[in-house]
Amino acid sequence: MPYREEMQVPRGYSGGVHFLGTTGASLPLVVWGAVRLKGAGLSVSTGEWCFWTIAFLLIASGVEYSAHRWILHRRRPALAHAFVEHTLRHHRWFDAGDIEARSGRDYHQILFPVWGVVLIQYGLNLPFCLILSRYAGDWIGALGLCIGAGFFFLYEVVHAVCHFPATHPLFKFGIIRKIREHHRRHHEPGLMGHRNFNIVVPVWDFLLRTRA
Ligand SMILES: [Zn+2]
Ligand SMILES: [Zn+2]
Repeated sequence: MPYREEMQVPRGYSGGVHFLGTTGASLPLVVWGAVRLKGAGLSVSTGEWCFWTIAFLLIASGVEYSAHRWILHRRRPALAHAFVEHTLRHHRWFDAGDIEARSGRDYHQILFPVWGVVLIQYGLNLPFCLILSRYAGDWIGALGLCIGAGFFFLYEVVHAVCHFPATHPLFKFGIIRKIREHHRRHHEPGLMGHRNFNIVVPVWDFLLRTRA
């Protein structure tokens, strides 16, 4: 029996509720960052805005790349749960030939658990940005929070879209087809530990020459 049919998903599981939970856990931080930004960033020059926006986007994409490459695909004793859930379950549930979600239950193996989102956003991202606010300036911390929390929100959405059925109307857009193909190739068993670790934009795959 194929792995995805063999594996149990909790009774009453709903992919829609799970999606609302993971994205809903991130959005308050984006909004809070935006409110703080509005008050704090008025006197900042355009050059500074551009510099810090690009810097935070590169950092967020680099965190996505690093966590995927060196945590989700490397077995480390303290983080073994992440490796098991991603490499041994997500990649087995969806191999390269068949990455399409067939029903809501498949999102159980696509989306982060809500507790994981809360831990990353409120246990790591928020304290990091509060420290930035304290030592680098209020608006820099607020911008970092907006971009960091927003990027993780986007990661969940884009990864879910990558696993939509290929006939979905969103794939009429060439750019979305390309993003999906980038992730589909990552699901090939021979490539998953070496190629295509970015999900949202393959910038670090390009810079570090890990793009398949
Ligand atoms: Zn995937
Ligand atoms: Zn992976």
